[in-house]
Amino acid sequence: MLFDKEQIPKAPPTKRMHPSDAGEGMIRFSCPHCGHDTGWIADQWTITENKRGQPCPVCNRPAPTTQDTTR
Ligand SMILES: [Zn+2]
Repeated sequence: MLFDKEQIPKAPPTKRMHPSDAGEGMIRFSCPHCGHDTGWIADQWTITENKRGQPCPVCNRPAPTTQDTTR
């Protein structure tokens, strides 16, 4: 029995930051979606991964599971 397509929740696409600057073993990413800037961080990825971009920690923050009652 296959799943009904309607029952599978769509995963939101991952928003990625793009490298804005890079130097000796260091790299900096900025997010075109929310403007988040990582500042200079250790370059721990391959060139290919950096070109593809890194997931933005702000845009990809998981949705809160509890209701915000302060609003
Ligand atoms: Zn972002």
